[in-house]
Amino acid sequence: MTGKIIDGKEFAASVRAKVAEHVTRLKADHDVTPGLAVVLVGQDAASEVYVRNKGKSTLEVGMNSYEHKLPADTSEADLLALINQLNEDPAVHGILCQLPLPDHLNEELVINSIVPEKDVDGFHISNVGRLSTGQKSMVPCTPLGCLMMLRDHHGSLSGLNAVVVGRSNIVGKPMANLLLKDSCTVTIAHSRTKDIEALCRTADIVVAAVGRPEMVTGEWIKDGATVIDVGINRIPHPEKEGKTKLVGDVDFASAVEKAGAITPVPGGVGPMTIACLLANTVTACCRANGLDEPD
Ligand code: NDP
Repeated sequence: MTGKIIDGKEFAASVRAKVAEHVTRLKADHDVTPGLAVVLVGQDAASEVYVRNKGKSTLEVGMNSYEHKLPADTSEADLLALINQLNEDPAVHGILCQLPLPDHLNEELVINSIVPEKDVDGFHISNVGRLSTGQKSMVPCTPLGCLMMLRDHHGSLSGLNAVVVGRSNIVGKPMANLLLKDSCTVTIAHSRTKDIEALCRTADIVVAAVGRPEMVTGEWIKDGATVIDVGINRIPHPEKEGKTKLVGDVDFASAVEKAGAITPVPGGVGPMTIACLLANTVTACCRANGLDEPD
């Protein structure tokens, strides 16, 4: 059996098209343009690429993009002052502070200084609490993208057994909460979990968010299960000397033989993350203006 490959690129394009439509309507009917502010502290090369892509995608769907690049030695007080200014700016509906921050800055403090209504990353303690108690919140973009792909594939997720491998605050835990909210029976596995392979073999849905290249192999997957690979790992290219290759946390070649459906890397979860960030910004804008939210 060879699983269906879930095309995250195509799915993300359809999410972005819906966002763009909504933005057009907001402008035409309410004279409102959603705005996303992205704050980058320092010169981390990967973060710079992410921030550039976010800015480009924001403009492409017709929203306003505000980029704030600060030097690596920016003081906490200066960063908090900028966030406060963005909190109060009515043209800014979403604020994202690119992580990781330089060591001298307290990430928790900085994230929690963004007003929850503009916290489009969904990392503010209030949004985390609201999500885990089933209240309306801002939902972290990567798990939201995974959930959208799962719902699209399965329709209802009710009653399915899901194993989430990884318990980070940005992926594993919110993913588990979202699946629980959709009435899955959820198990969270992590580095101390015993016999993780056997556990995964019980799952109708496996979400791998580990950061270990190709750890989850076909032998871990129950026949017909859905496999969502969140991992982004750069490894030395097996055939091209001196080159690198992007792989996920799942060994795609063996897992695709067992899975009913599977996301590839690249082209799976990755593109959905930015699309969900744009969708969250529109949601924040609608809420700020007392307007109907997109579905
Ligand atoms: P973290 O490093 O924060 O968390 C990794 C989790 O995996 C931890 O809970 C850890 O367990 C668990 N883990 C590590 N080793 C093992 C193991 N051998 N067996 C079982 N569990 C293990 O990573 P993130 O959650 O931030 O990211 C996970 C992956 O997803 C990374 O590859 C990252 O690059 C990618 N990512 C992709 C995004 C996208 O847009 N596609 C967005 C965000 C992340 P413990 O808690 O016990 O240490």
